[in-house]
Amino acid sequence: VKFLYLLLILCATAHALDREAFTFTHYDLDVRVEPSQQRLAVRGKITLRNDSDRPQRVATLQISSPLAWLSIKADGKPLQFVSQTYTSDIDHTGQLSEALATLPREIAPGAAIELEVGYDGTVPLDAGRLAAIGVPAAIAKHTDWDQIAPSSSAVRGLGYVAWYPVATNAADLADDSVAEISARWKSREAQSSMNINLCADIDGPGSPMLLMNDPPRTEGEGGGYDRHACRVAQFSPLGAVVPAFFIASYAAVETGAADIFYLPSSKPAAEAYQAAVDLVAPFVREWFGSTGKARIIQLADSQASPYESGSTLITPLSETVDSRQVQQTLVHQMVHASFSSPRSWIYEGLAHFAQAAFIERQSGRPAALDFMALHRQALLDAEQPADAQKPADASQPTAEAKPKDQAADRSEINTSSEEFYRTKAMYFWWMLRDMLGGETLKKVIAAYRPEQDKEPSYVQKLVEAQTRRDLEWFFDDWVYRDYGLPDFRVESVSPRQNLQGGYLVAVTVENLGGAGAEVPVTVRAPGGEVSQRLEVRARSKATFRVESRGFPAAVVVNDGSVPESDMTNNSFTVKPPAASQ
Ligand SMILES: [Zn+2]
Repeated sequence: VKFLYLLLILCATAHALDREAFTFTHYDLDVRVEPSQQRLAVRGKITLRNDSDRPQRVATLQISSPLAWLSIKADGKPLQFVSQTYTSDIDHTGQLSEALATLPREIAPGAAIELEVGYDGTVPLDAGRLAAIGVPAAIAKHTDWDQIAPSSSAVRGLGYVAWYPVATNAADLADDSVAEISARWKSREAQSSMNINLCADIDGPGSPMLLMNDPPRTEGEGGGYDRHACRVAQFSPLGAVVPAFFIASYAAVETGAADIFYLPSSKPAAEAYQAAVDLVAPFVREWFGSTGKARIIQLADSQASPYESGSTLITPLSETVDSRQVQQTLVHQMVHASFSSPRSWIYEGLAHFAQAAFIERQSGRPAALDFMALHRQALLDAEQPADAQKPADASQPTAEAKPKDQAADRSEINTSSEEFYRTKAMYFWWMLRDMLGGETLKKVIAAYRPEQDKEPSYVQKLVEAQTRRDLEWFFDDWVYRDYGLPDFRVESVSPRQNLQGGYLVAVTVENLGGAGAEVPVTVRAPGGEVSQRLEVRARSKATFRVESRGFPAAVVVNDGSVPESDMTNNSFTVKPPAASQ
């Protein structure tokens, strides 16, 4: 009878079920892991705050589908709940065990309730969501590598394995909504916190170590790297980090700038990484000041895709990998350990920029431009929808007010797209470095304080404090709005012979795109080439004049340092003097 009553309530509220009504503001979880059984059992308390604008009578709690709900209580009394399978690619299995719990009272908007929960089950290797979109199993298992297993366990949280309760609308890998749903959950959890007491039953040989990716402690507490069966971790704010845990017979090597946790059979590889850390550290210090400690945690699967969590890199360690490549990878996490920002385009953008700048130091500018170009096509693809609706098209009657909103939604400030906050932001910092010079950009970085970054224009003000240039247009085109990319073409080249027998060459460059930039332009002539930087605003032209000893044969705009929608129209062949008369 009770069950029927509950069903009636659920049916009555079904049309109004809002899965994302509650923000989980605090978790207190006791987690017990039994690697030999691939098992996880959790008891804990979660505080839910109603952030919707309507009273809520039903709470949604979701966990990975091989886990099952045991109990949900409020005020010490068990709640009625219906448990069902909910299809969502937010979990590696492609499904969630969802509990719809009837609360003892309606929770008003803004009010909170604490629930006591219990659940258990297994976390096996499962690439169900990737199989569903046709990824071959042999590849999928190296991407969705999360599992609890006897010899080594590695389990990431939201977006991989829902091993702690969440509440999200269905995400689908096929339409790319996993990133969007994850980003929305993280922004809801921006101020939330999680305390975890994680214990592992370790009965096998070896002496396993328990690691979590919690943010570094500031109050002088130890890192907690000792061998023990239990580990206490605090994640706060939860929006910045996805809780994950790792259990294996790790050995540790500590260097000044990074701690490396490796499996005993990989000692030579760990030593190679240690050497790379020592080599990279001075470069990171030069750009970002004193370095914090990065952490490298080895994945047992040698083909697994690496995963980053702040200053922690989870990756296979290989001796055979080129040492330069190891250094280039380490730069990224070491920058994260040294520089923090609540904004992805700054936090990730600068870490990717630093990789390019390190490669430039190692192998020269063309090698750095090649590195940045690796993701250029993906950025171009991501920009495509915006390109179709540039502000210039807004005059067309069908365009309505949409382009403006889209330009704001897809800006670096608001984006959840990796192509934007990683690739486009990397190019942004590179272009800014080219415009200001490295020493000025280092001063901007040194002046940056994450706690003072409250306004989108904070970085622009830091830049303007170091230079007299007004860069509002540049930040507006690349950071505050998404107006697509520039598209340069050399419109005209007019050489005039001067009295010394050389040429004065006037070059006009047109930018057909929606974003302006300062771009290098090179005049090639038999006597050598001359390069100059030219600021060309969106849908504008700009002209400069240079002296050239020989008759200019060709003019090329953009060396690849400015991402552009079309690079096929960048060179201009000048007609020889005889033909022009
Ligand atoms: Zn990163």
